[in-house]
This record gives sequence, structure tokens and C-alpha cells, in this order.
Amino acid sequence: MTRHSVRNLYAMSVSNVASGTQAVVTDPCPVCGHEAATPKFLIEGPGFQIVDCTKCRLGSLWPRPTAAEIQAFYPENYYGDGGSKFSSIIEPLVRMIAARSAWFIARSIRPKGRVLDVGCGRGITLRALADAGCETHGLELSRHALRGIDSRVQTKVAVSLLEAEYPDNYFDGVLIWHVLEHVPNPSQILIEACRIAKPGSVVIVAVPNYSSLQARLSGAAWFHLDPPRHLFHFPVAALERIIAEAGFVPVSRHHFSLRQNPFGWIQSIQNRLRWLPRNGLYAMLHRADPGLSQPFTLPVRLQLWACFWLLALPALMASIATALCRSGATVHVVGRKPATN
Ligand SMILES: [Zn+2]
Repeated sequence: MTRHSVRNLYAMSVSNVASGTQAVVTDPCPVCGHEAATPKFLIEGPGFQIVDCTKCRLGSLWPRPTAAEIQAFYPENYYGDGGSKFSSIIEPLVRMIAARSAWFIARSIRPKGRVLDVGCGRGITLRALADAGCETHGLELSRHALRGIDSRVQTKVAVSLLEAEYPDNYFDGVLIWHVLEHVPNPSQILIEACRIAKPGSVVIVAVPNYSSLQARLSGAAWFHLDPPRHLFHFPVAALERIIAEAGFVPVSRHHFSLRQNPFGWIQSIQNRLRWLPRNGLYAMLHRADPGLSQPFTLPVRLQLWACFWLLALPALMASIATALCRSGATVHVVGRKPATN
């Protein structure tokens, strides 16, 4: 696959595979090891499908992309420049929501503990944790992604958590926040997280919820499919199974994310309006490349903004309702490493 622009990657169209299509033989499922999956969605262009494991229902990008292909999914400007990813209207809201996440995380670990954020990006959550007195560590794939990060965060650049070589029993909390769905080896990361976590400490793993009401109602239009960057799509049961098999005991799950869930409703509904560009609203709010942040004509932009404002309140209500029904569009699971290992 050749290098795509940010806009092209978000605009990649997804369609349903005809129901009744036969299962295909795949590589072993990273959750249950099964080697058969049912094709569910077809991704335009690069020739990938999303297939569901016939045993644990984990969704996978198929065929599995090579390391070079995965690298091409992330243009250099994916994280934005100068530590800011979104337009000036949205950025303060994103930072406020990060502060709220940090408050939740700080409550789950011992006061002023040592926290690692795996795939910390611009480190907005770590900055809020540093404000709360935590010792903060961030790991990223590329130095470019770390631009603008708070100077209190101790950073490492490595291609995987294993290569970062943190000491045994070192952290009071390990965050794997919307990372697991991007990596080719999710169980390996969790096993390594368990090695570097202190006995009695926690891992907090957040992913889009493939078994959520939003995912099921949206189908091919679901914003959080994010093809082809999301290599795996976790139903909650599969996520908890992989966390438990890595050595953590899942202790709680949380179904509300103000940052992810209401926007997921708005964007998934907009994606059903076929005359508007897929993920057009996200592309418009994304400031990764000024040349792409205003790629649409005025009538298109007006329609996108109309979608945003008309759907904002219903999307918030739907997110609260689905969280109460334990079917949030994203989920984060807290796992505790047993005190004696
Ligand atoms: Zn499986």
C-alpha cells in the first residue's frame, strides 16, 4: 500500500459483506487462538476486510498488514504539530476532558504514584497527572509524536513496550489508552505491562467497544472502525479475557467517555449521509495538515457543522443512556495485578 494522506485514510469507504458469506481461514486469533473468521466489512482501496472470529467475535483487519504497511497508516502529521491535534475551538475541550480522565486514573492508583502511558501521544493526560503529583512516564513510537509534551514527563521512544525495557515491578499504574486496537500483538503488550507493574497496581485499558449498541447500529458507518489503523475490534468479553490471560484480574469496567462516545454517534450518523464525505466532520476539526483542514466547499462545511450542532445534545443523551446500560461505544477496563505473584 502506498502512503495515503490523512484525509484519504479517514475517508476510506467501508461496506457490508453480503450476509451468509462463508468463514475464511485466518492466522490464529490473538484472544482465543481460533483460525476461522466471518467476513463482515469490506474496506475500499487497499484490499482489506474486517473479519469476526467465529469463536470470540474479535474483529480483525484481514489480511493482517505487514509492519511496513502499518507504518504507512500513520503519516508524520498524524499527531498534529506543536502538541496540538485539533482546531482551536475543540482543543480546550479535549484538554478539559483529559484532565477528567487523569482524575479518574489518579483515583485508581496510590497517591503520587509512578504512571506509564503506553502510546502517550502529546501527553495531555500525563500533564494532568503530573499536576496531580504523579511521576509520569510516556512511551511513543516516534519522537515527532512527543513534540510539545510537558517537560515533567519522562519519555522514551521505542517501537514496542518490550523494547523500552522498563524494570520489573516498577509502575503503580500502566495506561494502555486506545492503543491495543492499533498494535499487531495485543497480548504481548499486556503480558509486558504485567511484568513492569508492581504487585497490587493497576492497568487501565481503553478500546472502542465492538459489542456496543453504537457499533451494532452503525455497522459499516461506525466511526470507531477507523480502517485500516484499527487492526483489532474488541467486544468487552474478549478484552477482559485477554487482560486476564496476561495476569491481571479485571476489577471494573467503565462505559462513559465524553471525549469518544458522543462524537462517535455524531460521526457515525454523518457517515450514513452518503453525499457528505466519510468522517468529514473529524477531518474538518483535525488540524494535522492546514492544507487538509479546510478541504471542503462552503456548503459541505455548513452541512457538517449543522450535523455537529443538531446532533450534539441527542448524542450526549445516547452516550449517557448506553453507559447506564453497560454498552458504551468505548470501554475502559481496570485490571489489578495480584499482590502476590
Ligand atoms: Zn477469537
